[in-house]
Amino acid sequence: MTEVLVIGGGPAGLTAAKSLVDRGAGVVLVEKKVSLGGMARELTCKGLVECRNCGVCFAIDRAGEIVREPLAEIMLLSEVAAVQKDDSGYSVRIKNSPRYVTDDCIGCGKCVEVCPVEGKAVFPPTGSGQPRTYWIDRSRCLHFRKTRCEKCALVCPTKAVDFEDRVRNVTRKVSAVVFATGMEPIDACEMTRLGCGTLKDVISSVDAERILNQRGRLVRPSDGKPPKKIAVMQCIGSRSVKLGVEYCSKFCCKYATKLSQLLLDTDPEVNLDFYFMDLRTLYEPQDEFKQWAKDRKTVRLLRTMPASVSPGKEGRLLVRAVSETDLDITETEYDLVILSVGMKPAGAASELAKSLGISADEMGFAKGSEELESRGVFICGAVIEPMDIEETAVRAIAAASRASKGASA
Ligand SMILES: Cc1cc2nc3c(=O)[nH]c(=O)nc-3n(C[C@H](O)[C@H](O)[C@H](O)COP(=O)(O)OP(=O)(O)OC[C@H]3O[C@@H](n4cnc5c(N)ncnc54)[C@H](O)[C@@H]3O)c2cc1C
Ligand code: SF4
Ligand code: SF4
Ligand code: SF4
Repeated sequence: MTEVLVIGGGPAGLTAAKSLVDRGAGVVLVEKKVSLGGMARELTCKGLVECRNCGVCFAIDRAGEIVREPLAEIMLLSEVAAVQKDDSGYSVRIKNSPRYVTDDCIGCGKCVEVCPVEGKAVFPPTGSGQPRTYWIDRSRCLHFRKTRCEKCALVCPTKAVDFEDRVRNVTRKVSAVVFATGMEPIDACEMTRLGCGTLKDVISSVDAERILNQRGRLVRPSDGKPPKKIAVMQCIGSRSVKLGVEYCSKFCCKYATKLSQLLLDTDPEVNLDFYFMDLRTLYEPQDEFKQWAKDRKTVRLLRTMPASVSPGKEGRLLVRAVSETDLDITETEYDLVILSVGMKPAGAASELAKSLGISADEMGFAKGSEELESRGVFICGAVIEPMDIEETAVRAIAAASRASKGASA
């Protein structure tokens, strides 16, 4: 049977892996984190009242499917340590780190309750990550110190805690490789003039997504209260010569417009100002969002880039911006500011990429080619260029199709 190595368990790698097993290929899926889902693990469904086609559930559903797929071998907490090309494909050495909790975990959370470590040493998987198996952070766990704590093992109803778990080095033979190492969100704090890192209630869109995903509603980090007046700011980090990210990240207008709509769904009394330069809502007509905003008295679309965020009165935030007419400076106070960050590619310039013959362009994105594919290496997802989950999925299916043909040829 054809075996394909998929590197990266985000929307791209998951879709490619599912598409490959649907074609009858075996898959070895290597993900460096403790769970599958990639960036989508942290994201919130934006469709509280009706589906808004944000694509987040698509990625999480693929993760749920692939963990139950007999043709797929899932290796979490794993990285490819070495790749060697031979006549029949690639010989791959994979380093698998221990999670100290076996697949018998039923996710009851009893271990977390009894763990005496401040901030805990045993955790559920991040956000909506799959599978829902817990894991122990060895660097924090008291079992590996003098006290030899075993509280979690004693309380676990399925005896899933395994302190004997060890690093494993395994070798697999594959006929093709799908490279899907994805992206990193830009650090919003690189935009120092907007108060990130110094003002508690200036948060990135990643933070906003996490809070909504975990709690179902947005609260201010400073006092835990729901914000009543919110500013959403676009193009944070993207299109910035200073940060060396000169491209448009392509998906941030789409998610931020849907996120803004979700905020109004969760609290119709919220006042929301949406600061933007250009509105790029990808495949959806931007008029829909403009009309949605027009229909609401509490929403304003402001076509300008704010100049600064500073402390306002009574714990609020003061935003200064050039007015849309360019004639004066506006000053507006908010309870919360959300900075909509873009992305940088991840892993395209790594040693692993080099060992597969992948090179990066001047912006750090991976360059695919027919020549590379003729050697059985296929690239997909946001490591190639900015793309949302929908485009990622479509292009991953196409890559899987070419990989399965190339691999069986
Ligand atoms: C704040 C924010 C909100 C967003 N909201 C939406 C939205 O609502 N709708 C939408 O369509 N898109 C949204 N996006 C975009 C979406 O996150 C991307 O389109 C999508 O994550 C790209 O998928 P990917 O698999 O290419 O990359 P990633 O999601 O980054 O996944 C890559 C995976 O590869 C793993 N990996 C990396 N290197 C290695 C390695 N060497 N070995 C093993 N594993 C490795 C990573 O751990 C990760 O799990 C949002 C993005 C951000 C930043
Ligand atoms: S107590 Fe055991 S079964 Fe329950 S979450 Fe912890 S490890 Fe999993
Ligand atoms: S052994 Fe003790 S310290 Fe370590 S995770 Fe279990 S309860 Fe926490
Ligand atoms: S998608 Fe929108 S917010 Fe993101 S960089 Fe492009 S124009 Fe700016």
